Amino acid sequence: MKKVETENRRNFLKGSLFAGAGIAAGVATGSAGSAFAAEAPVKDACKRYSFENPPAPIPASAIKTTKTADVVVLGAGVAGLSAAIAAAEKGAKVILLEKRNTFTMHGGWNGAIGDRAHKAAGITIPKDKVMADLMRFGAYHPNASLIQLWANESGRVMDNILDIADAAGVQYKVDTDIKEHWPYTEFPLAINFFPAMQFTLGQMFEKKCKALGVEMLYETPAVQLIRKSKVTGVIAKGKEGYVRVDATKGVIVCTGCYGSNREMQEKYSPRVLKTVNNQYSEGSNTGDGILMGMWVGGAKQETDCPMLWDGMIPGHGIFVDIARQPFLNVNLLGERYANEDAPFGYTANADNQQPKSLKWTVWDGKWDADKEKLHGTVCENMHIPVFWNSKSYDMWKSKGVIIEADTIEELGRKMNVPVDAFVASVKRYNELVAKGVDEDFGKDPEKLTSIVKAPFGAAKVGTGVLVTLDGLRINTKLQVLDTEGHPIEGLYAAGNASGDFFSNDYPITCVGVSHGRAVTFGWLAGERVAALKA
Ligand SMILES: Cc1cc2nc3c(=O)[nH]c(=O)nc-3n(C[C@H](O)[C@H](O)[C@H](O)COP(=O)(O)OP(=O)(O)OC[C@H]3O[C@@H](n4cnc5c(N)ncnc54)[C@H](O)[C@@H]3O)c2cc1C
Repeated sequence: MKKVETENRRNFLKGSLFAGAGIAAGVATGSAGSAFAAEAPVKDACKRYSFENPPAPIPASAIKTTKTADVVVLGAGVAGLSAAIAAAEKGAKVILLEKRNTFTMHGGWNGAIGDRAHKAAGITIPKDKVMADLMRFGAYHPNASLIQLWANESGRVMDNILDIADAAGVQYKVDTDIKEHWPYTEFPLAINFFPAMQFTLGQMFEKKCKALGVEMLYETPAVQLIRKSKVTGVIAKGKEGYVRVDATKGVIVCTGCYGSNREMQEKYSPRVLKTVNNQYSEGSNTGDGILMGMWVGGAKQETDCPMLWDGMIPGHGIFVDIARQPFLNVNLLGERYANEDAPFGYTANADNQQPKSLKWTVWDGKWDADKEKLHGTVCENMHIPVFWNSKSYDMWKSKGVIIEADTIEELGRKMNVPVDAFVASVKRYNELVAKGVDEDFGKDPEKLTSIVKAPFGAAKVGTGVLVTLDGLRINTKLQVLDTEGHPIEGLYAAGNASGDFFSNDYPITCVGVSHGRAVTFGWLAGERVAALKA
């Protein structure tokens, strides 16, 4: 067996981390969603949204082309590519429809339990504790059987993926960098692929699909499912007109989330409207598959689960690492309001409760030394030499994102917060640092760093959304359920188009479980549908 090294998050190649997110080497390339900055969420119970009126069926006369496959997969993200490979490996004829002109990948952490990379690295993950954490994060809204299915199967599925990686000569490592002093237990579930993290996985998956004969139709968005008693296929919109794709065994919906669909956000997750930035920069995540599923009788998960994070610079479409560190945070009233060192979704929730859903992150002249102590992980560490150095600091200062002053009073004035309240907050915080105990909000003493040395610095930040995780209700056979809980024959879902796995907040403590769910359930759906009789 291939030797698998472990990887400390401090060391991996950083430039590829945000592939697909429109961010490289600390330079913003623009992003969707920033128009939503600091707006109050709208939720009008009487409002009828356009998507609530199912579109008229596309007439047979409008169909230009007809195709047939055993298994039809919608969406070439992590879930869809995984489903297509698994189905094709079982010998099924597979057609994969994708809206964009290429596959979609983000980030790089893929969570699994019991795979051979973890075993080779000598890491045993306590499955029961991970399952308990996922249920607790979701306040017991998730379907425990789906969580159990992932916990039991993710290792086997990951092993299949590692086989593909080995055959392709792709390197991978378990990420072992966890926050040791945290009051929250972080589980090192994730595997990274190199050199370009998730983009490498996407390239590898696409090649494998082609090698297995999967017919991949890019720029061909699915628009309507075809259901008589069961779902028998889908209509997509190709460049030459409508294409009907009949599925003799089943359709697997892997079209991702609704993070870029403003109407769906309003109805299903109005807190997303408080974010200043959308990190899914491609914008193709408009909830199409969730809507198509609902139009043929499928039910959506009741609760929401946006993957929110903190530290987004309003108007810049990017986060700046120093502003995401658990330094002192104050709101626009100059008041400290929470433990700054919570899981990033929790921090975003606390930030969103503040006036205008904005805060200031405040540090002092020894920030470079303090970052060692703060030790953020999973997308929030400052040990990325490409991004974090004094050059980067100066660049953000020159753009006016980082402001500096020689005294706390002057900084407060520049921040435009009530100066007395701000000075009192800093004074109190420094007292707590000196005591070594956060008597006010219970921050880990390890993360208490004083604000004493000029120049004092600050950045105003809001929250961002990466994806939404609440999709169509499914059972453990990955079948989409109707509003009575009955499976809709012929219709399956995986990844963010599916639901009942996450609720309330993304459990970042279970590192990489979002990709972990997508890749595992995609694979299981592909295997299952391929094994059906036509
Ligand atoms: C910047 C960023 C970083 C992230 N980092 C991580 C991480 O490191 N670890 C982790 O676990 N999670 C991470 N996530 C979340 C994770 O990427 C997603 O939850 C996961 O990729 C979902 O996979 P999916 O296949 O369900 O959906 P997606 O990856 O969204 O793929 C859906 C695909 O369907 C296509 N599509 C949409 N509509 C249609 C249609 N009508 N017809 C055909 N195709 C359609 C889309 O174009 C897309 O290609 C990150 C998210 C972002 C935005």
